[in-house]
Amino acid sequence: MPAAEIRHDWTRQQVLDLFAMPFSDLMFTAQQVHRVHFDANRVQVSTLCSIKTGACPEDCAYCPQSARYDTGLARETLMQVEKVLEEARAAKAGGATRFCMGAAWRSPKKKDMPYITQMVRDVKALGMETCMTLGMLSDEQAQALADAGLDYYNHNLDTSPEYYGEIITTRTYRDRLETLGRVRAAGMKVCAGGIVGMGEGDRDRAGLLMQLANLPEHPESVPINMLVRVAGTPLEKQKDLDPFEFIRCIAVARIMMPRSHVRLSAGREQMSDEMQSMAFLAGANSIFYGEKLLTTANPEANRDMQLFSRLGIQPEEYRQYSDESEVEAELSAQISERQHDAFFYDAAK
Ligand code: SF4
Repeated sequence: MPAAEIRHDWTRQQVLDLFAMPFSDLMFTAQQVHRVHFDANRVQVSTLCSIKTGACPEDCAYCPQSARYDTGLARETLMQVEKVLEEARAAKAGGATRFCMGAAWRSPKKKDMPYITQMVRDVKALGMETCMTLGMLSDEQAQALADAGLDYYNHNLDTSPEYYGEIITTRTYRDRLETLGRVRAAGMKVCAGGIVGMGEGDRDRAGLLMQLANLPEHPESVPINMLVRVAGTPLEKQKDLDPFEFIRCIAVARIMMPRSHVRLSAGREQMSDEMQSMAFLAGANSIFYGEKLLTTANPEANRDMQLFSRLGIQPEEYRQYSDESEVEAELSAQISERQHDAFFYDAAK
């Protein structure tokens, strides 16, 4: 397989073959692909803020925010715009370049949209990239968010179409794909990934990545979450996933979606520094930074910075580009700078 090929026609068997590679070969291939498109020593840093917490009518089996499960989570109504801005300023001061705002909704209501779009405009005015996750969107809502300047919309596929019914019954896989289509049609970037360790099998992990990579355009951001078991949810007693299977998922996502930022996301709290570094080696190049990942704990921000420093990783800077060719030019410049580095491996040659 030529490294770094952009494809949208993966078969399940091809994906399973990647998962079945000897671990070292898989990691090496993922590194080759990664270094064609990215500076391997830079990681994008986002901060996540829950702008409306709990009381969600959906039944996602992993989620403490569902009103159906008694998880002891304190419910909060929609945060005031000024409070959101305070959080965004603190995130920026802490080094985050993207501010992600999440609301536990099936979909936003008409009355919420003016507040939501104001948040987007105000956070952007601070010089940060913006991302939101608000549930399903109509065409009009997607357009309103795009018009306000929202850069990314997050909407995860969660798992394979085959395993999906074990996890969520209140919205369909098709609903999710339709929301992703609306986000694209409105001109926003897509953040879409899934969760592993929910009792799914190898074929499901392959099926999730196949769905994401076979979208008409790869999501710009692909969060790979490790299940965080929360007491009171149906998955609270789920067995641990072998950590190497998680790293394999990151590596396969990197190979299948070479230009996407692959995000090491929920579940980082439970990972050792060594496991996180292995995820970076497998091609993860984005993290959530801050003390909270929506409602589950996230490793403390300074622990992240210490790890970056020990690994020689720099946070990726946020720049506004006029088009894709400017992004490519910047990446090529970063990569060619690193060619003098004794450890640089030019996988394009
Ligand atoms: S994952 Fe989102 S949609 Fe599902 S229950 Fe939680 S907040 Fe609601």
